[in-house]
Amino acid sequence: MQAIAPVSVNQAPIAQEEQSRGFVILRSQVRVLLGAPFQLEYTPMHDEPQRKGDLQSLTDGTLTESDARTLLERMRWPDGLICPLADCGGSGAYRIQVAGKTLKSGRVVGPRQLFKCKACKRQFSVTKGTIFEDSKIPLRAWLTVMYRMCSSKKGVSARQIGREFGLTPESAWFMCHRVRYAMTDKNPTRLKGIVEADETYVGGKLRGHPKHRAAKFDMAERIRQARANKIAVFGIKERGGRVRAQAIPEISQRKVEKVLHDNIDPAETRLMTDEHAFYYWIKNRVPHEVIRHVSEYVRGEVHTQGMESFWAVLKRGLIGTYHHVDAGYLNQYVQEFAFRANTRRISDNERFTSLVANVGGRVDWYLGKKAQVSQPVETDEPYDLA
Ligand SMILES: [Zn+2]
Repeated sequence: MQAIAPVSVNQAPIAQEEQSRGFVILRSQVRVLLGAPFQLEYTPMHDEPQRKGDLQSLTDGTLTESDARTLLERMRWPDGLICPLADCGGSGAYRIQVAGKTLKSGRVVGPRQLFKCKACKRQFSVTKGTIFEDSKIPLRAWLTVMYRMCSSKKGVSARQIGREFGLTPESAWFMCHRVRYAMTDKNPTRLKGIVEADETYVGGKLRGHPKHRAAKFDMAERIRQARANKIAVFGIKERGGRVRAQAIPEISQRKVEKVLHDNIDPAETRLMTDEHAFYYWIKNRVPHEVIRHVSEYVRGEVHTQGMESFWAVLKRGLIGTYHHVDAGYLNQYVQEFAFRANTRRISDNERFTSLVANVGGRVDWYLGKKAQVSQPVETDEPYDLA
């Protein structure tokens, strides 16, 4: 087969061009053979957010410990120092240097950067009352991990973070959970407008080959086992707005109604769900439209595609990044994905800044103790949506 000659108006330059092209190919082959460094061309899909100043050093790994401290001070107290100690909140505080010393026990304490409150005369550090308090992990590692968790759409595994920062798997795991705590919305307000509600099931993969299982158990038993192993995640989403989701073990109609009652404004909401029996009675309390997934997925404004796309990202993250999530901690992972979904319209830098603004508070469960499948849904008390 003949090679197709390149079309050109002028004959003479072609020969030169082909010659030079041949040379280029040869050189690149030699380079590959010799293992010389080569650069991949990188074309960003979108306009990348501007990374300037402090945040630049977060991403290129040049952040020092004192930079991290200054960055946290500025982000925590943009309008001047406020005392974080209990029952104070005084605004007059000043910086003090505490020299290093050797304690009676022989433990050496390095010099520390502290503040002293004029009102209550107590000392505090920039990490007081935050998720970083009492942590031995350097602040620069904390901030870098937070940035990574903000910028990775499907999350970062604790193992990966442990390897990168030289931490034990347990330390890295707990660190990530403290960041998830900061990502959790602590003062949720009610959703309104067109609100989609949907549920999905996570986990529940059974051991053994399906054929062997079929020989051993009848159909009803196999369905029972598969259901028993799964945990439901229930979510609601404002059309074009916020997502709220939580893991609900042993999901029931009454628990679903309670979550809806707590999280939507019935006077200003049109609820969209599928035909699941959980939502059968909700029409008595809030305007409700149903999309029948047996036959259709979208009917005008009636659909739950917003929730479906949230489930898609959540499930890919849980399977692809985290591989195995303990049922007791599933809700914390769901909060992480909800945080990123709710800040999806802002840049990574802005998301990171809003996360740092939320570092107040402490995780009230610790390694070794079992986490609550948080916010257990109480259904004993009577409630009324109307
Ligand atoms: Zn004070």
